[in-house]
Amino acid sequence: MSVAGRTASYEELLGAAGAVAADLAALGPVRAFAVTATASLETVAAVVGGLLAGVPCVPLPPDAGPAERDHILRDSGARLIEVDFARRAPAASAAPTAQAAGPEDPALILYTSGTTGAPKGVVLSAAAITADLDALAAAWEWSAQDTLVHGLPLFHVHGLVLGVLGALRTGSRLVHTGRPTPEAYAEAAAAGGSLYFGVPTVWSRIAAAPQAAAALSRARLLVSGSAALPTPVFRDLERLTGHRPVERYGMTETLITLSGRAGGEVRPGAVGTPLTGIRTRIAAEPGAEIGELQLVGPTLFSGYLGRPEATAAAFTEDGWFRTGDIAAVDGDGVHRIVGRASTDMIKSGGYRIGAGEIENALLDHPRVQEAAVIGVPDADLGERIVAFVVADGVSGAELTDFVATHLSVHKRPREVRFIAAVPRNAMGKPQKRLLLAGE
Ligand code: ATP
Ligand code: MG
Repeated sequence: MSVAGRTASYEELLGAAGAVAADLAALGPVRAFAVTATASLETVAAVVGGLLAGVPCVPLPPDAGPAERDHILRDSGARLIEVDFARRAPAASAAPTAQAAGPEDPALILYTSGTTGAPKGVVLSAAAITADLDALAAAWEWSAQDTLVHGLPLFHVHGLVLGVLGALRTGSRLVHTGRPTPEAYAEAAAAGGSLYFGVPTVWSRIAAAPQAAAALSRARLLVSGSAALPTPVFRDLERLTGHRPVERYGMTETLITLSGRAGGEVRPGAVGTPLTGIRTRIAAEPGAEIGELQLVGPTLFSGYLGRPEATAAAFTEDGWFRTGDIAAVDGDGVHRIVGRASTDMIKSGGYRIGAGEIENALLDHPRVQEAAVIGVPDADLGERIVAFVVADGVSGAELTDFVATHLSVHKRPREVRFIAAVPRNAMGKPQKRLLLAGE
């Protein structure tokens, strides 16, 4: 495996992880430990060391401000440790220690992205993680023959669980590019990459860099997730790489539950069908075709750390997990994520309108680079559609007409506000609650 330019064999990784496990055993019983999760071999050794020792790791975002770090450290009660990858492990330490955990015990504690509120600690068991990775390996035909390429942060499900533990579980090579730039992905392609992970921001930058995109034509599979992949980006990638990127959907609490399949039909704007063992349902109001996506399956979390009420509130009375996302299902079972119930469902003039559809329409306009659409309280309409766009050389009226002719009149934004950039977090998730901040 190579992480940010440093390479280690599986034996070397196991040695370093064994040393971490020995350190953890020496600490005595601890609930969890934290590491500053830089994109590095140290972070990988820490997480694997925690698995060996039976003590869950809490990876801290390295660029988190002091308030976020304090929140996570205090909330998790984790002991912050430092890891030295180069140190050799004592011979016996790679063996599981006395505290070694069973498959249902906490294996990893990940914090949600904090898109809708303060990040919540999510307890994940080894059983949930292995069920998810095995289901993904089947869906993506992911094997020891693959070289996985990505440059994603190592403190969320995408970069860490899929992007590191997935490589270990399947035995594939991993090239972590340090940063997810088009140039770095193209370079890894030249070195034999086959499977590529990215968040939509990464894919949109690659789609805007035709040379880098062309290098990915040799790929076996391109996978997008963590937020909705805009359909114009999907089309550009297909044109430039010859591959239709597979989109998958998941949450920290559920891991990945829906995905397109390698070798299967891939539909733009859709996140595929349930993975092995996952069952879904749409809780729609009578007559509506879209509603909250709810699911059950072996990949679900064990609970929010220290928040039994929040855990209970996340499930329906009959035990289904409430994702908080609005979805629709095509006739053949392919799912589409419309958006979050809290920010992406606009109720305007008696219509329920998905923000994503309007964002995709705006992005189809040649002068628009970014778009984020929200509903703002309105005395007459209930909510009125407001579009925040990054664009030049086009007026607000031209854009609202463009939407009204491409979609339908009731989807016309009432207002267009020009901004410098859509606020996004490290995973490229739009932070819509910041759009109206300060107003
Ligand atoms: P918080 O729960 O703290 O508000 P968050 O929900 O952004 O933050 P994560 O668990 O990292 O934290 O993200 C899960 C969410 O990401 C999903 O609920 C969904 O809204 C979004 N998401 C993930 N994949 C996709 C996808 N392919 N298409 C659309 N949305 C996606
Ligand atoms: Mg969430």
